[in-house]
Order: sequence, then C-alpha cells, then structure tokens
Amino acid sequence: MSLFKKFVNKFTSKSETPEVPEAPEQVQPKVVEVVEIKELPKDDIWSQPIVREIKDSDWDELATELLQSDLGRELTNELVAAGKKSKDKPLAAIKEKLESAMSKKDRATKSGVILIVGVNGTGKTTSAAKLANKLSGKTMLAAADTFRAAAVDQLKTWGEKIGKEVVTGQANGDPAAVAFDAAKKFVDTNSDNLIIDTAGRLHNKADLMAELGKVRRVIEKSAPISEVLLVIDATTGQNGLAQAQVFTEAVEVTGIILTKLDGSARGGIALAIEHKFDIPVKWVGSGESVNDFETFDSNSYINGLLS
Ligand code: GDP
Repeated sequence: MSLFKKFVNKFTSKSETPEVPEAPEQVQPKVVEVVEIKELPKDDIWSQPIVREIKDSDWDELATELLQSDLGRELTNELVAAGKKSKDKPLAAIKEKLESAMSKKDRATKSGVILIVGVNGTGKTTSAAKLANKLSGKTMLAAADTFRAAAVDQLKTWGEKIGKEVVTGQANGDPAAVAFDAAKKFVDTNSDNLIIDTAGRLHNKADLMAELGKVRRVIEKSAPISEVLLVIDATTGQNGLAQAQVFTEAVEVTGIILTKLDGSARGGIALAIEHKFDIPVKWVGSGESVNDFETFDSNSYINGLLS
C-alpha cells in the first residue's frame, strides 16, 4: 500500500512523467536488464526539498486518498496539518508524523490465559484457532461463545484439525462457567496457553462490560489474564475504530488481531487504531486457512506506506 508515492514523486521530481510513446506495431524482442543495487541512497526522497508549490488542491487530494485508505479523519488531518506547517520540508514532516503514530508498545504475545474479544463475524473463532496453532507450548482452547451454537462446533472442528483440546460448556449456558472450567483445567494440566473465544454480542456497553467483567473475574480465581486481544475486521474500515472504542472502554485490550487483510481493505485502519488508542496490532489474518496468520511487522508496514 504505497499511499504517498504519487504525492511525494509529484513534488520531488523535476520533470513530470514523460508521455509514454505508442507501442510499435511489430513485436520487439525482450531485453532483460539486470540492475544490481549496491546500496540505497542515503538521503531518502522524503527528505529532499520540494521543487514545486504544494497547493490546497494537492493537500485535498492527499487527504481524500488517506481517508479512502482508512487512516481516519483524525490522523489524516494531523498528517496534512504537519505537512502544511513545515515550510521547507513538508514531506519529511509527514513522514515523521506517520512514524510517530505507530504504537511503541511490545508486539509480542505473552503466554498464559488469552481472551479473544470482538464483534461477531470479525473472525474471533477462526483467529483463536489460528493463534493456538502458532503459539508454542501446550495450548488449549475454550469455547465461551455459548450463545452461538455454531461457534462452539466451529471451534471443536478447528481443535480436531490442529490437534488442540477444546473446553466447551452447555449451549446457551453461562460463558463465565466455561471460562471458569477452562481456567481451572489450564492450571491443573500445567498448560502454557489457554485461548478463550468469547461471545461477541454488542447489545450495549453496559452488557458487554458486565459480561466480560464476569468472565475476567472467574478466570482470575485460577490464573491471571496475560492478554486481551481484540479482533477487528479490516474490511469494515472506520467501523473498526468505533468497535475499538467500545471494547477498550469495557476491557483492558492489550493487542489487536486485524483480520481479512486479504480482502479489499487497504490496511490504513491498523495505523488509525494504533494512533488513537495506542494499542499495538499483534497479528494479522489474511485468509480462511489456519496458516493465513502472521505476527504484525510494523517496520514493513510503515515501509509499505512510505515506499
Ligand atoms: P466470529 O463470529 O468473530 O467468531 O467470526 P468467525 O471466526 O466465525 O469468522 C467469520 C468468517 O470470516 C468466517 O467465514 C471465516 O472463515 C472468515 N475469516 C476469518 N478470518 C479471516 C481472514 O483473515 N480472511 C478471510 N478472507 N476470511 C476470514
């Protein structure tokens, strides 16, 4: 997602892109040229002085592009304001602002009891299984999304597929009861990780807080909670910000799992969330199979935005 390339090129290259001549009628033999890049230029393009004035219409164009990429109104405004404010090096000012928007918190996943929270349909159950498959050590799963019968079956099927035990309870039973049993089993069996898939009903904030609060309290009778990972579907765009708002008010979220990056999403939501809530994206999902799941690499993400 090289968001800024067009914009940066426009104001750093001396000539506009030359017209591409029409292709000749006859087919030309292909010439394959191997260019060896010994080292990258020290002075990157962002630090170069601009060669033409950046007009208001150019800033508007950039803002539209950033909004379409889900960076959100707040961050977009801040980036454009930083660029406008800096008279001599507007591009460097944008880059600096962009880099400072990423969370500086640790992106590693702490082993122990991991709660997976989020709105239904975002990919909670799938991500719980994918995560169980990635973590090292003895890992079990718990299906505490008892309100959605399919979620329990889905997690059981995943458990069989990846060879992990799944703790379940009664359909429509109390999610906290499943969480309690699972936490006890986690301690009794001396396991390394317990990943709990929670219910994603979003009636209102008070319900959500009460439900997650109860789940948390019963778990903590047996073991501390090491992570609360919020699952956000990248294709929902700015709605992801609204979800993050509700969940961070209900529970202390320690990381984000950003799913469906294989879809139409342009991924800017990762930066928007990190900027607004200072919660690091820890994992990204990029498909429906168990291996479509990776840790989030903030450096390559930023490079992707900038290059
Ligand atoms: P939950 O209701 O939050 O537990 O969501 P599910 O785990 O049931 O996932 C909802 C749908 O999204 C399922 O069809 C999943 O296969 C799909 N899904 C989950 N993660 C991803 C992903 O990273 N990419 C794609 N393309 N689909 C995903």
